[in-house]
Amino acid sequence: SFVESLPKTWLRANLTPNARVILEKRYLKQENGKVAESPEEMLYRVASVIAQIEEKFGKGKKEVKELTKSFYEMMAKLEFMPNSPTLMNAGRDLGQLSACFVLPIDDSMEEIFDAIKNAAIIHKSGGGTGFSFSRLRPKNSTVRSTGGVASGPVSFMKVFNAATEAVKQGGTRRGANMGILRVDHPDILEFITCKEDNKEITNFNISVGITEAFMKAVQEKAQYNLIDPHSKEAVGQLYAPDVFTMIVDRAWRNGEPGVIFIDRLNRDNPTPQLGEIEATNPCGEQPLLPNEACNLGSINLKLMVTEKDGKVVVDWERLGTITRTATRFLDNVIEANTYPLPAIEAMVKGNRKIGLGVMGFADMLILLQASYASEDGVEYAEKIMNFIQTEARLESQRLAEERGNFPNYKGSIYDGVRPLRNATLTTIAPTGTISMICGASSGVEPLFAVAYTKTVMDGTALIEVNPIFQSFAEEYGFNSPELMRKIAEKGTVLGFSEVPNWVQEVFVTAQEIDPEWHIRIQAAFQKYTDNAVSKTINFANEATHEDIAKAYELAYELNCKGLTVYRDGSREEQVLSTGIAK
Ligand code: UDP
Repeated sequence: SFVESLPKTWLRANLTPNARVILEKRYLKQENGKVAESPEEMLYRVASVIAQIEEKFGKGKKEVKELTKSFYEMMAKLEFMPNSPTLMNAGRDLGQLSACFVLPIDDSMEEIFDAIKNAAIIHKSGGGTGFSFSRLRPKNSTVRSTGGVASGPVSFMKVFNAATEAVKQGGTRRGANMGILRVDHPDILEFITCKEDNKEITNFNISVGITEAFMKAVQEKAQYNLIDPHSKEAVGQLYAPDVFTMIVDRAWRNGEPGVIFIDRLNRDNPTPQLGEIEATNPCGEQPLLPNEACNLGSINLKLMVTEKDGKVVVDWERLGTITRTATRFLDNVIEANTYPLPAIEAMVKGNRKIGLGVMGFADMLILLQASYASEDGVEYAEKIMNFIQTEARLESQRLAEERGNFPNYKGSIYDGVRPLRNATLTTIAPTGTISMICGASSGVEPLFAVAYTKTVMDGTALIEVNPIFQSFAEEYGFNSPELMRKIAEKGTVLGFSEVPNWVQEVFVTAQEIDPEWHIRIQAAFQKYTDNAVSKTINFANEATHEDIAKAYELAYELNCKGLTVYRDGSREEQVLSTGIAK
């Protein structure tokens, strides 16, 4: 609990009016239905609660105050932002600070309904939950105690979905789930098609857990075994290319299921001595053990550039400082967190996983005048993430020397290699809301549009222009309201002769980028990320099944941990769309 109030001389948060509205709606403390803190007070609340943890590790009042200021400043300047639950809940009654959870589902009524209850508690606090349904016995197997037959994983997913729907209203944000089934589970075909109807299982993202054996069978055009989760024995076979085609077809139709390469997640499991990774959080970027949670935070790359000899370059020094401060911040969050269950607290404090990532990558490339769809773009992705991972690990090593290794260090992949405070350091989150708060492009995604039309409450249409594009237009003399209107109609700048060619290249948008570049950027970040990368691979409406199949194969080849595809116009409700008519 913090008692002091925000020092008057501390800087005001650099938030746009839009960002202030988002914070007021959801994040700021409310009393009697009224907003009871300013965004600056919110950031101060978060900074002081997280810095105060240092007292536990022997730091004095003065040091805590200094650290509070560093934490506050990197958030107020929008250089770093923790995941939403930390902003919402630190220093408040809920006190639950993590965005990502994975809960175990064992094959008994008691355990299935325990998981539903625990998920509801987590959703209430703004966390998302992932589950593997792979341990459940297949549909139509016998239930010994009743003599009846089992209804199978998909039927239980519907129960989880209904429970999530019911909690939706009262929580801090809409509950989100990930449902995973191994490709060798006997009910896999029912799972692949379970979201064919867009109105079913709406509170879940679903992903097929793809094994190495399955990929090999696809490549060799062979049958593969379906395994009973209880006996671990083969109980049937499917022709792998057919199953692969079925996954591709459903993804082509409406973007689901996604895939995760489950054996690969386990190849990189830092604590294999504790068991297998079976699932990820809802957006797929965070593989976790059963009952594990992880708190995320993201560095705003848009602000990690500087001018040198009249040229915009990466500000490595600033990026290093923020990476180290953010790592310390996220390690402290583990201590400040209130956990929904004792089993989760034990697992989280044993592994101390954190997920430091980035947002504003597309903005940064634009400022550096590099195209997202280019070798330069891929090279920047690798360099930036390599640097962040290296600095974060060095900081975690220093924290280990100060505070000790993560308790499950013995038997981990780091045992005897290097001291480490955190079993994982890096994750690329979607940053859906925090990127809006920071006025940055989200995660490592390209721009969605250069300009678009937004209909405001009274029905008037406003044209929103990307602020960097606006400033380039002014600087390079091609600014005109007429041009902006035309660009908003099309969403893109390709083909506008008024816009210099190099500007057209660096403002390339998600739709125009060849899927191969999307995947190569994802792979470049994955190379230096301990956990996984949240990324959508966009396809034009005209894309074929074959295009999608090739994307899965490329993602597999380039060592991605999973893949999410989206073909333009393939879902009735699309969150964002370009063009006035839509
Ligand atoms: N998440 C969730 N519900 C939401 C949005 C996010 O449960 O409505 C969880 C989910 O686990 C997701 C993670 O938070 O993978 C990170 O999402 P994001 O980076 O978009 O969150 P932000 O911190 O920007 O709100």
